[in-house]
Amino acid sequence: MANEFPTQARVVIVGGGIIGCSVAYHLTKLGWTDVVLLEQGQLSGGTTWHAAGLVGQLRSHFNMTSLIKYSTQLYGELEAETGLATGWKNCGSLSVARTADRMTVLKRTAASARAQGVEIDVISAKEAGDLWPVMSTDDLVGAVWLPGDGKANPTDLTQSLAKGARNGGAKIFERVKVTGITVKNSVACGVETDRGDIAAEIVVNCAGQWARKVGLMCGVSVPLHSAEHMYIVTGRIEGVHPDLPVMRDPDGFIYFKEEVGGLVMGGFEPHAKPWGMNGIPENFEFALLPDDWDQFEILMENALVRVPQLAEAEVKKFYNGPESFTPDNNFLLGEAPELKNFYVGAGFNSMGIASAGGAGRALAEWIVNSAPTMDLWPVDIRRFASFNNNPRWLHDRVKETLGLHYAMPWPNRELDTARPFRRSPLYDRLAAKGACFGSKMGWERANWFAASGEKAENDYAFGRQNWHEAVRREMKATREAVALFDQTSFAKLLVQGRDACAALNRICAGDVDVPVGTSVYTGVLNDRGGYESDLTVMRLGSEKFLIVTGSAQAVHDADWIVKNIPADAHAILTDVTSSYAVLALMGPRSRDLLDKLSSADLSNAGFPFGTIREIDIGYATAYANRMTYVGELGWELIVPTEFAVGVYEALHEAGREFGLLDAGYYALDALRIEKGFRAWGRELTPDINPWQAGLGFAVSIDKPGGFIGCDALVKAKPSAAPAKRVVLFTLDDAEPMLWGGELILRDGRPVGEVRSAAYGHTLGRSVALGLIENETGVDTAFLNGGRFEIDLAGIRHAATAHLRSPYDPKSERVKADVVELRAAAA
Ligand SMILES: Cc1cc2nc3c(=O)[nH]c(=O)nc-3n(C[C@H](O)[C@H](O)[C@H](O)COP(=O)(O)OP(=O)(O)OC[C@H]3O[C@@H](n4cnc5c(N)ncnc54)[C@H](O)[C@@H]3O)c2cc1C
Repeated sequence: MANEFPTQARVVIVGGGIIGCSVAYHLTKLGWTDVVLLEQGQLSGGTTWHAAGLVGQLRSHFNMTSLIKYSTQLYGELEAETGLATGWKNCGSLSVARTADRMTVLKRTAASARAQGVEIDVISAKEAGDLWPVMSTDDLVGAVWLPGDGKANPTDLTQSLAKGARNGGAKIFERVKVTGITVKNSVACGVETDRGDIAAEIVVNCAGQWARKVGLMCGVSVPLHSAEHMYIVTGRIEGVHPDLPVMRDPDGFIYFKEEVGGLVMGGFEPHAKPWGMNGIPENFEFALLPDDWDQFEILMENALVRVPQLAEAEVKKFYNGPESFTPDNNFLLGEAPELKNFYVGAGFNSMGIASAGGAGRALAEWIVNSAPTMDLWPVDIRRFASFNNNPRWLHDRVKETLGLHYAMPWPNRELDTARPFRRSPLYDRLAAKGACFGSKMGWERANWFAASGEKAENDYAFGRQNWHEAVRREMKATREAVALFDQTSFAKLLVQGRDACAALNRICAGDVDVPVGTSVYTGVLNDRGGYESDLTVMRLGSEKFLIVTGSAQAVHDADWIVKNIPADAHAILTDVTSSYAVLALMGPRSRDLLDKLSSADLSNAGFPFGTIREIDIGYATAYANRMTYVGELGWELIVPTEFAVGVYEALHEAGREFGLLDAGYYALDALRIEKGFRAWGRELTPDINPWQAGLGFAVSIDKPGGFIGCDALVKAKPSAAPAKRVVLFTLDDAEPMLWGGELILRDGRPVGEVRSAAYGHTLGRSVALGLIENETGVDTAFLNGGRFEIDLAGIRHAATAHLRSPYDPKSERVKADVVELRAAAA
C-alpha cells in the first residue's frame, strides 16, 4: 500500500525542504526508485517556504556555476514534466556598482562568466536605469546584466520536485520525525523515527538548520549555525512590473525582486545576527522570527538611496527567517568522513533555492556512484574537521559569513571572526616578528612579515597591496640566501602496518615501494584519473610511512586513504598533524646554515634530493626531508611539536650570518608559481589528470599491481599533446597584478582561465598558472603560434606562454645541487 509506513528502503532522506526533495527527484531519475523521504512537518515548512526565490548563476568556481546553470534549466522544464508550476521566471538580473572597486569586481566577474559560458554584459549606469527604471542611478559607476538569471517560487518548486520524485517511485512521508540513526560496524544502516524504524543502505541528512543536530545523532560533524535573514514585501510601486529583473546592489548590501506589483527587498548586512544558540525549537514549522527593524536599518537606509519611492511604499510584510550558514559560506555536500553510507546536503547559506537543482543532482550522483562525478571540493563536507563543529566558534563565525555574499571579494581576503583558532607553537614568535596572519583550515599562518614600523595588516586592493615589498624581500632571501617558512599547518598522516606499503602503492600513482629513507612526490588519483590529492610519501620504515599533504586536505586525504585500504589489510592510518611542526628551510645557504647545527652529512651525496633522515638540530632530533616547493636547495624539518620553538631559535641564531629571513605564504606561493609547481585545489583537481597537469613524470604507469586511476590514465594518454593543459604564463608588462580567476585569450578568443597567480619578483612580473584548451592539442606550436592575452577587469594584457618555467637559477650552487620536481616537464 502506498501509504503504509515502510520498514526498509534503499535510501532514507531526512528532511523535506527543497534540498531533500531535489535529492529524491534525482535519485529516481538515476534509477534508484526505492527512496523514502521523511519530513517532521510539512514539505517546505522549514526554511524553504519563506525564501525570496532569487536564482543567480554566477559563482567563482566553474563547477559551482554549472550546478546553478543546470538548476535554471530544470526549473524551466519541471512543470512540463510534473504538471506543477515552479514559478520560474527567466527575468534576468542586474548587479550595480557604486564604486570603482566594485566595478572592477563586476568586470572581473564578467570575464570569468564568459570563461564559464554564462551570458553577461557590462553596461553603463544609464543602461542599468533603462532596465530597472525605478532605481536612482546618479551615484552608480556601472552594472552587469545577466539575462539567464531569474526567480522561482520556493514552495511550488519543492512540491514540483516532490511530485517528480513520487512519479519516479519515491515515497514521501510528512509528520514523521527522525529521532536516531542506526549504525552498525561504523556504517549507517537506517533511521529510528516516531513511527518506527526503517532499515536502509544509505541515509541522507537534508535537515537544513537541523542538520547539525541530526549529524550529532551519529557522531557526524555538520558545521553550520543559524542566522536571521530578513526581507520586506511592499505594496504596489509605480513602474514595478512582473518582468522586472532581479536587482542586486552589493555596496548597499541589498537585493530586489518584483512581487505582485511591489518589491521584495532584502539583503546581507555585514554583521549578522546568529540565532538558535539553544537549538532550533521543536515544531518550528512555517514559522518566522519577530521583526527586527534595528537589524534591518542598514538595509532599509541603502534601499531608500536606490529606490527613493520606497519611502512612500506600504510595507505589507516583514519576513525574518532563520537559515543555516557555514564557516565559509559554501554548502556542505557528500558522504560524511566519520560514517560510511551517511550523506549530507545542508548549510545552504541563503542559496538553497538557486543551488537545489544542481546540488540535488550532484549528491544523487555521488550516492549512486559512491563518488562525486565532478570536482565538488568547494562544497565537499571533508573540507571541515570535527573541531569546526564547535558551537561557540560557529556562532562567532556566522556573524561574518552571511555578510560575505555582498562584501567586497578582495583578492586574498581573509575572514576576521572567530580567530585565532589553531596556532602553531611558533605563533607568538612570528607575531613578534611582524607576521601578518591568514587562516587556512583554521590554522593561523604567516602570510608575510612587516618590517619594523610597518603595520602587519593587509590593505586590500586590486593593484599592488601594501605587502608587495615585504614579499619581494622574502622571495629574494629564498632565491639568494636562506628563508624559513613555518609550514606547521601541513597535514601529516602516519600509515603503518604489514600491508601499509601494498595499500599505499595501490592508492598512489607514483611508486612508493622505495628504500627506507626515500621521499616520493606523488598524485593520488580517482577512478577517472583525476587528482584527489598530491602529496609526499616518506618511507620511515619497512612498514611505516609518513604522508605530508596540504593543510586543507587532512580530513579529505585521510578519508580517501582509509576508504581505499582493503578491509582485510593490516594498515592503520593516524592523523599526526598536531604532533609535528614543519619548518621549511629554503635557499642556497640552507645547507651552510643547517651544517652549523647538525652533525648529519648534508652533502649532496650524503643527503640527496628526495630522501629523509632523522637528524640532530641543536638539542632536538627531527626528520629532515630534502624536498623543495620553491625550486631551491632546502629541507623540510619535521620537528616534534615540543621541540619546534627550540629549533626555530637555534636556526635564527645560526642563520644571522647567512641572512636568514622569516618568510610567509604569499612568498611561498609566488615562488612555487614562478617554478611552475602545481597546487592541489588550483591546478590539480579531481577533473584534471596528470597528462593535463604536465605531471606524467610523477606517475609509475607500469608499476606491478597498478594503482587507482591507472586504467583511466592509460585510456586518456594523448597520442600527441593533451587538449586541456596547465600552462605557465608571464605578463609582458611588469606592472599589473594577476590574482587568479582571470580569462585567458588566444588571438582574441577565450581559451581558458588562470588558476593561480602572483607577482613573481624574481622574474619581475606577474606569473600565472592557467588551464587552457585546444581541441587539436595544447602543444608548442599552439603556444608559439598565437597571441596570448589575459583579461584583467576588462583590460587585456599581452602574456607569454611557457611549458617550462622561465626562472633560471642564477646561483651556481643551486644549479649544482637542486634536483627539482620537474613540474613543467612535457
Ligand atoms: C529570508 C530568506 C530568504 C532567502 N532567499 C533565498 C533566495 O532568494 N534564493 C536562494 O537560493 N535561497 C534563499 N534562501 C535560502 C533557502 O531558503 C534555503 O537555502 C533553503 O530553503 C534550504 O533548504 P533545505 O532543504 O536545506 O532546508 P529546509 O527547507 O529547512 O528543509 C529541511 C527540512 O528538514 C526537516 N527536518 C529537520 N529535522 C528533521 C528530523 N529529525 N526528521 C524529519 N525531518 C526533519 C525540517 O522540518 C525541514 O523541513 C533564503 C532564506 C531565507 C531565510
